[in-house]
Amino acid sequence: MKVRTRFAPSPTGYMHIGNLRTAIFEYLLAKKYNGSFILRIEDTDQTREVEGAIDFIYKTLELCGFSIDEGPNNDKRYGPYIQSERKDVYKKYAEELVEKGKAYYCFCSEEELEAMRKRAEARKRPFVYDGRCSRLSKEKIAENLANGIPYVIRQKMPKTGVTVVEDLIYGKIKIDNSILDDQILLKSDGFPTYNFANVVDDHLMDITHVIRGKEYLDQTAKYNLLYEAFGWEKPTYIHVAMVLGEDGNKLSKRNGDASFMDLYNEGFLPSAIVNYLCLLGWSPANNQEVFTMDELINNFDETRISKSSSQYDVKKLEWFNHQYIQKMPDEEYLAWIKKYFTKDVSNKSDEWVNRLLLIYKSHLNYGKEINELVENFFNDNIEMNAEAKEFMESDQVIERVISYFKAELEKLDDWNVDVINTAINNVKNALNVKGKLLYMPIRIKASGLMHGPDLADTIYLIGKDTVIKRLK
Ligand code: GLU
Repeated sequence: MKVRTRFAPSPTGYMHIGNLRTAIFEYLLAKKYNGSFILRIEDTDQTREVEGAIDFIYKTLELCGFSIDEGPNNDKRYGPYIQSERKDVYKKYAEELVEKGKAYYCFCSEEELEAMRKRAEARKRPFVYDGRCSRLSKEKIAENLANGIPYVIRQKMPKTGVTVVEDLIYGKIKIDNSILDDQILLKSDGFPTYNFANVVDDHLMDITHVIRGKEYLDQTAKYNLLYEAFGWEKPTYIHVAMVLGEDGNKLSKRNGDASFMDLYNEGFLPSAIVNYLCLLGWSPANNQEVFTMDELINNFDETRISKSSSQYDVKKLEWFNHQYIQKMPDEEYLAWIKKYFTKDVSNKSDEWVNRLLLIYKSHLNYGKEINELVENFFNDNIEMNAEAKEFMESDQVIERVISYFKAELEKLDDWNVDVINTAINNVKNALNVKGKLLYMPIRIKASGLMHGPDLADTIYLIGKDTVIKRLK
């Protein structure tokens, strides 16, 4: 049997990293078994739809390097892959269930439902539809339909017994049928609910593995009853625990949690994001952390997905991103970092700019950070922090290091890294200082900072006049 997985986002304009992680797992599973990765757009709740969201989804998957084997743009006889274009399909299957006695027309008006809801509220019970329309006579139903009374189609749930859901991660879960409400399958506007459409589509699209958020686990009892009513084979279910935000709460745009695109725009590399997210809620058998895409595909083991939720940690993501930046060849790095570098370099040479960007490669955690890191190359008024000031007053020799070094620089005719290194060496020999007492005062005076890239490179790039001015 060919493995077929699907990523089924709703086009709401915001792909949080939890959604993306689901896509990653689906993609890896499909590729590991030489199967197909399918994109299906779940846009049946049109009130939540955001314009342009589908492009956004495509862009995200493309940036992450996930090739879509089937989807709205490449139909392989299973289409359409956009649910709003499949209304007729759902109607047909909903009616089939009515004929089988597993679903029924419900003509209850909004007012009637509201009254039921109020009654349940007064009795402090959760609202469950009381099933009154399931008892309508054939004649009454025909009459209502003929009169064009709006209706929904509801699933008829068994009132006793249990339904078992089998999940690859959570094992067997038993759900009491008595708590299952006669959920709506087809709404009065002809659109299906997610609860119905996902089952119909997963079946018709021959999906073998359904990976989705754990919040759907209990609902799956209802889906199983649908599969059974139709006599269809169920897919393998893989429910994955939630990714929580940095504050420990559910991820949401409102909480200011970053979406994939926000991270991308900050200068996180898609490959690093994918690698990091994959390890949120999944772990390989060994301790490897940094993986190429091929390694991820080969090592991915769906049975090792974790049962407990994981917490998003931007520091850890920065660590991954840093590793990926180091792996980039210099040419590629320069082309990439220039997209994030916003300093005015109109009076600098290309050579100067490239060199500056390169000496920060090994310091960088994400693209936009470059602008903070190089701030003191562009700012005449550098300010030392308290720690640097304290250091500058910590030893008598420091003042002498500075003035000797300044005199050395003033003597120079050429300006390159070699002569600067020689100048530093001359200070060392003349004053008999080394290590921190030699380098730190020069670095602090020249750049304002206690740490940074190679000292001679830094001084070279700041420029002779500026450094001498700062040493004074
Ligand atoms: N459209 C659903 C969502 O975005 C997909 C759930 C599923 O994968 O079945 O949450």
